[in-house]
Amino acid sequence: RVSRELYPSDSVVHIGNVPFGGEHFSIIGGPCAVEGLDEFRQSASAAVKAGAVALRGGAFKPRTSPYSFQGGGLDALRVMKEIKQELGVPAVTEVMDAADIDMICQHVDALQIGARNMQNFNLLKAVGRTETPVILKRGISATIEETLLAAEYIVDAGNPNVILCERGIRTFETATRNTLDLNAVAFMKRKSHLPVIVDPSHGTGIRELVGPMAKAAVAVGADGVIIEVHHEPKNALSDGQQSLYPEQFAQLMKELDAFITAA
Ligand code: PEP
Ligand code: MN
Repeated sequence: RVSRELYPSDSVVHIGNVPFGGEHFSIIGGPCAVEGLDEFRQSASAAVKAGAVALRGGAFKPRTSPYSFQGGGLDALRVMKEIKQELGVPAVTEVMDAADIDMICQHVDALQIGARNMQNFNLLKAVGRTETPVILKRGISATIEETLLAAEYIVDAGNPNVILCERGIRTFETATRNTLDLNAVAFMKRKSHLPVIVDPSHGTGIRELVGPMAKAAVAVGADGVIIEVHHEPKNALSDGQQSLYPEQFAQLMKELDAFITAA
């Protein structure tokens, strides 16, 4: 079902009124986590002002350490809903537990399956039973084939609205947080009709590399990017080191425009 052999033309998936796929290149911006009303308002409005057409922000965070900030839960979802309405753009947040799906869908426009849950098959089936668009992130050690089969679970369960996301994989390289596999983007675009976006923030883990890899994403045929932006990266509760300052994000948006027009 996700194969281009069977369905040759590009699928276009809408998050709210924002199209992903086909001729579009769509930019999602926002902080790693929703930290509070004022914090999210500042980061989100900077992202939207600079040109992001959809917001990101975690309410349920999959953290390596149980002692790290785990996300604001329902309070954070309420914040997202308020701010996305204020700014007039759709929003996406990660779902870690099938029991939270209904609650999340009442607050935001799209569900994210995080890298750590890419092969949580019950969760895949559960989001597949909704009509809400799903951003499916590639697992940390998942092959392209496994990624496409994970998408197949969602589509087979009844939800065709899947956007694939390359967010870097774990390799022998330790200089960067992950190794952003742009081969996978070009490959998945050939193999599947689903839209493919790139997350250069988690893909590199280094603020200075986010811009270059976002431009590379355009060149390789991605349908969009999802980028972490924080109003005060130094004080971020998660992923500050890879979050762009608002001015950096605004500058990157301008530079990306030229690449998108050229592509
Ligand atoms: C995130 O988007 O903040 C996140 C946790 O991403 P990933 O699942 O790709 O690590
Ligand atoms: Mn993050």
